[in-house]
Amino acid sequence: MKEITVAEFDREIVNGGKVILDFYSTECPPCEALASKFEDLAQLYGNDVKFLKIFRQGNRELAEKFGVKSSPTLLFFDKGQEVASRLTGGIKRSDMIRNLDSMLTADRVKEIKSLIKPTVSEFDVIILGAGPGGLTAGLYLCQSKINTVLIDIALPGGQVSTTHEVSNYPGFIEPQPGYMLSHSMSEQTRLCGTIYKVAVDITRVDLEKKEVVIDEYETVKAKRIIIATGTTPNLTGAPGEKELKGKGISYCATCDAKYYNDKEVIVIGGGNSAVEESEYITRFVNKLTIVHQFDKLTANKQAQEKVLNNPKISILFENEPRAFIKEGDKIVTEVENVKTKLRQKLVSDGVFIFIGMKPNIELFKDKLELDQWRYIKTNEDMMTNITGVYAVGDVISKKYRQITTAVADGTIAAMAIAKELN
Ligand SMILES: Cc1cc2nc3c(=O)[nH]c(=O)nc-3n(C[C@H](O)[C@H](O)[C@H](O)COP(=O)(O)OP(=O)(O)OC[C@H]3O[C@@H](n4cnc5c(N)ncnc54)[C@H](O)[C@@H]3O)c2cc1C
Repeated sequence: MKEITVAEFDREIVNGGKVILDFYSTECPPCEALASKFEDLAQLYGNDVKFLKIFRQGNRELAEKFGVKSSPTLLFFDKGQEVASRLTGGIKRSDMIRNLDSMLTADRVKEIKSLIKPTVSEFDVIILGAGPGGLTAGLYLCQSKINTVLIDIALPGGQVSTTHEVSNYPGFIEPQPGYMLSHSMSEQTRLCGTIYKVAVDITRVDLEKKEVVIDEYETVKAKRIIIATGTTPNLTGAPGEKELKGKGISYCATCDAKYYNDKEVIVIGGGNSAVEESEYITRFVNKLTIVHQFDKLTANKQAQEKVLNNPKISILFENEPRAFIKEGDKIVTEVENVKTKLRQKLVSDGVFIFIGMKPNIELFKDKLELDQWRYIKTNEDMMTNITGVYAVGDVISKKYRQITTAVADGTIAAMAIAKELN
């Protein structure tokens, strides 16, 4: 593995053989998350592919020439030509391996794979999920000198990182951008000394043995497990939704509203998320229509007032989406009146869907006691039906799901575990 500058670019890449080039930055948590994977794969693939790093800020012109806009970004080259797809953000080991394998012969890939040695590491506590619940548990455990690892399939932060603004987290006079709040939470826990294994694939979880296998080869063992895997957005299930996800249908206003400047969008839903995110989306769009299945909004009164007084927002009550169709640049949302069954077509530039969430329990659903909505049941110490396995945050059975309640659950589980282990 080698660090290069723009002066060495021609020698190392244009006239070089197969290369993986990492445009990295300092003070960049995703770059830090990538570093150990990059080093690890350099050991395996280093004889066939050159592993190079280049400091993005120090080599700005080159970064701009290649259209590199975020750190880290991995580019793959063969004889000076860019090959394979670029990787950026929370880069997974499996995605890097897929790209590296595509640059080699099948026989060579087989030889390299045979060199992969499974590893085992041991901790006191494994936390699955680095949202507010998991991060808070990690902080409390770390401050109790309990050896803890946080494992997440994405980068740390959880749902807060994609929330445009948080105005109800105590301690801040002004509303905080969600990504800043989650960044501060994550850095506080990381700087305390909690080990992070993020943007990984979870291969297997054995709750009874307290073992988690990540990226197929790395077994992590512990005395206790905390599940803090949160929720993911529900789908409407209407035809066309899956196909148009990311191509006009979005579940994240912070991520995508900016692409709809002066345009017109539809929002499906009528609860707190739908209403609050609609208000935010109107910073960009000219017109927004909320499609809601009931005859009144179900969001809290304060949020409702904001949208009801917003001239850009109109509401179509008692309607549900029945199909999403792409027509040129537009999305046609076919909606049906739940009473009259009359259908109509709404043409817009994009659709945002906020119709509630479902718990992320797929990996452990068979072993855990769940409530009727498939959220994990816990006792007052946040312990599940399996001894030594705790669950916190949005994934558990409870009435209110907020950052403050996730943080509180994480605190309780960590304190209960610290008491046991100390
Ligand atoms: C649009 C929107 C706006 C919101 N606005 C507010 C607000 O203003 N104020 C407020 O208090 N709350 C708000 N919330 C709710 C708040 O975000 C959640 O209550 C809070 O994030 C829950 O924290 P958590 O740690 O339980 O889960 P999450 O934040 O969901 O984090 C779960 C983490 O687990 C990871 N994960 C998932 N599956 C696995 C797996 N199998 N293995 C390992 N890791 C996994 C995920 O990648 C994620 O990082 C909002 C939610 C949404 C969707």
